[in-house]
Amino acid sequence: MIIAIDGTTSSGKGTLAKRLAAHYKLPHLDTGLLYRAVAASAINKGIDFKDERECALLAAHVELSEFDERELRGAGVGAAASIVASLGAVRRALFELQRKFARQEGGAVLDGRDIGTVIAPDADVKLWVDASVEERARRRFAELSGMGEAVTERGVLEQLKERDARDASRKDAPMKPADDAIWMDTTLTNPDETLARAIAIIEEHRGKPQPAAKKAVKKAVAKKPKG
Ligand code: C5P
Repeated sequence: MIIAIDGTTSSGKGTLAKRLAAHYKLPHLDTGLLYRAVAASAINKGIDFKDERECALLAAHVELSEFDERELRGAGVGAAASIVASLGAVRRALFELQRKFARQEGGAVLDGRDIGTVIAPDADVKLWVDASVEERARRRFAELSGMGEAVTERGVLEQLKERDARDASRKDAPMKPADDAIWMDTTLTNPDETLARAIAIIEEHRGKPQPAAKKAVKKAVAKKPKG
């Protein structure tokens, strides 16, 4: 079973993906870490984040095990990752790795921004996870200050809005829900409640065509010439 989880920054999609992977005993890939690793390499090597050719070369050889996850999770790397992720050649360089992960035997859980639309449009279940921007800023602020970063909640809120706008407006694989994604708003739910809801949704939808797919099948049937 392939579970595709997309959504906004700090919506809780990463925690949900990890916990779903543990529940269903599936391997998990946080695809944001790939873009973060490319950005961190560019920073370390003094490469301009907008240099598409150089960043694509970094992406082609990205190796997550070479990075300290705490370093990748920082605010500076996150902002740089969103710039690097807007480069088409970088996305293409990371495509095969993600696709292969999704298609491994037994399935997988992947979370990101374009899993249901580009990486695994054939996923068994697609979730779109979001929360109000104020709640997301509160969560991200708590996470970053817990990591010792000198940030303010207001600054984090502004950064989130900027990142959402950039991720949603880029030309290549913009952040958006797949037509057949099931929406989950986590503004008022804690991680345990979110997990329980997601499992209920997955159990209801796995193996069944999703609403948009059903619609497409109906249309195809309706269009079939008679006789
Ligand atoms: O999810 P996370 O905050 O770690 O992602 C960092 C950045 O990587 C995002 O802001 C987004 O620009 C990019 N990203 C992406 N596609 C993905 C995952 C992440 O463009 N599938």
